[in-house]
Amino acid sequence: MSPSRTPNTSGTRGSNIPQIGFCEEKNRLLGEFVKAIREISELQNQQMQAVIDTAIDGDGDFTRFDVLLHVAQEKKEQAKYAWIEHVEKHGCHEGSI
Ligand SMILES: [Zn+2]
Repeated sequence: MSPSRTPNTSGTRGSNIPQIGFCEEKNRLLGEFVKAIREISELQNQQMQAVIDTAIDGDGDFTRFDVLLHVAQEKKEQAKYAWIEHVEKHGCHEGSI
């Protein structure tokens, strides 16, 4: 019913990330971090749906999402540390975030 919400956000390029700060690289790394978080949240939604499917017809495979979520979590951690490392080295964390 609501036109402002799109049910499937996979395939979007994160163009809705606001322009903040003054360091392009920092913003790029932040975008990677946001993308990783989004991926986890999508996987969690899919897993939830798989659990619901299993409850309804007894036939679903929601355990495979644990592996995918684990990989996605690691990606998120890597993106986070890449960002932290950059702002510490570059000193560009002041004035934003
Ligand atoms: Zn920077």
